Amino acid sequence: MPIADSIARVEEQIAAACRRVMRPRTSVHLMAVSKTHPVTAIAEAFNCGIHLFGENRVQEFAAKQPALQAAEILTGASPARFHLIGPLQSNKAARAAQIFDVVDSVDSLRLAQRLDEACAAIGRRLPILIEIKLSSEASKHGLAPDAGELHTLIERLPDLKHLTFRGLMTIPPYADDLEQVRPYFRQLRELRDSLAQQYPALQFDELSMGMSRDFSVAIEEGSTLVRIGTAIFGARH
Ligand SMILES: *Cc1c(COP(=O)(O)O)cnc(C)c1O
Repeated sequence: MPIADSIARVEEQIAAACRRVMRPRTSVHLMAVSKTHPVTAIAEAFNCGIHLFGENRVQEFAAKQPALQAAEILTGASPARFHLIGPLQSNKAARAAQIFDVVDSVDSLRLAQRLDEACAAIGRRLPILIEIKLSSEASKHGLAPDAGELHTLIERLPDLKHLTFRGLMTIPPYADDLEQVRPYFRQLRELRDSLAQQYPALQFDELSMGMSRDFSVAIEEGSTLVRIGTAIFGARH
């Protein structure tokens, strides 16, 4: 299916999910996850009006930068914005801070400190999300809701002056039945609500949850940012 048609279909499904729970369509942002896909595909989505993208590897995005510059996707009145959504090793924090607009996958105090130092060195402020791990799967990254480190990190955020905290992100475990995924989305929203109450000085606006299979359920449960790869660009190779 052409990317334009896929985007139109995803847009329809986002609008339908918003209507079901009486949320304004503007309360959900659509991120196109372009990992493994070429810059030509990104340009196609950009020309359909998508200006928010997710990449999961520092090196892959760095390699795409010259072609993105050449295609004038990173410049102009409404440039594309790229979030890092994959796991980030501390030794790549400086490079990530140079090339990404937002890092959604902060999963340790050490990484947050590295990003803050890197941003101080280049004089920028970097918006971040904290990644939360709601299941015990070894393959998942993120901090558990009851981890002491989560609270330590949140309490240290005001000292990390080059980071702007925006909210939480999660990847739920896989299940064939989407109703088995719904409780994880609900749990992230409830965690956000309770942390926002505990830490009223911080902004917990963003709730990044929902991928190609399950974004409608995620929107019903309060997602503000859906990360959609396959349903826009097709299968990854
Ligand atoms: C790859 C990826 C996505 C997109 O997954 P699809 O199922 O293709 O929509 C979303 N979020 C993260 C963190 C990813 O790594």
